Amino acid sequence: MLKGKTALVTGSTSGIGLGMARALAEQGAHVMLNGFGDIEAAKAEVSQAGQAHGVRVSYHGADMTKPAEIEAMVRACEAEFGALDILVNNAGIQHVAPVDDFPAEKWDAIIAINLSSAFHTTRLALPGMKARGWGRIINVASVHGLVASANKSAYVASKHGIIGFTKAVALETATTPVTVNAICPGWVLTPLVQKQVDARAQADGVSNEEAKRRLLAEKEPSQQFTTPEELAAMAVFMCSPAANNLRGTAINMDGGWVAQ
Ligand code: NAD
Repeated sequence: MLKGKTALVTGSTSGIGLGMARALAEQGAHVMLNGFGDIEAAKAEVSQAGQAHGVRVSYHGADMTKPAEIEAMVRACEAEFGALDILVNNAGIQHVAPVDDFPAEKWDAIIAINLSSAFHTTRLALPGMKARGWGRIINVASVHGLVASANKSAYVASKHGIIGFTKAVALETATTPVTVNAICPGWVLTPLVQKQVDARAQADGVSNEEAKRRLLAEKEPSQQFTTPEELAAMAVFMCSPAANNLRGTAINMDGGWVAQ
């Protein structure tokens, strides 16, 4: 379905972003990866997923706190593939602490990575999408863009912010062939959440399995983690012709979290 298109997925060396990169490659899109950690493993996984379509996979190490590096990444994608058709703003970090004990540098990093980086990629990628007559911008927000939890002030502010940003840009592009939407996951068992599982296990003096059960029981009526594959299927749907008029939405896949 996406043969000949090019996707840039920020924070795609791990977790949800890697799952989305894999799914877009399976649909035939060339992919530029971004993020830290085991880059070669991520490249190999996504190449494998796109093998049947002859998908090309490349990587840019831009740090999402640095606007100049973000610009270099967008330009590198356009130069290497001749286009940037699908932009997935996924890179994100978390820090858990009460607001009066929240390190200022963590606040700045969370706002920069989870929110401002999407402003920079969007403002840089949008003119090319409009000129080529097709584009998809998918922002990975969170249930924390719709509701709050204690001790996550920066994360909740950044995720509410990105949903507002999604709506504003969707209105600005409403008469163009570029759509802008957000996906709001509940708990997904990635390294970002494993840290919170570990903290819970330690605080409660329980096993890893019991800590997972308690985290889910607190927030997620389905008692199940959402998977990167399920979220990636939603991203693929957002790139499909059926989603041509899906604009400015924030779709939650959260096991009923915000239905409560
Ligand atoms: P993860 O830790 O597995 O992946 C985060 C990715 O972002 C990695 O590739 C990492 O290298 C990259 N990254 C971090 N800092 C970066 C920086 N400065 N520059 C470039 N890349 C950077 O986490 P995940 O759970 O897959 O999270 C992905 C997105 O999904 C985030 O925006 C997160 O807020 C959101 N989300 C996650 C959950 C969850 O339960 N895991 C729930 C809701 C929303």
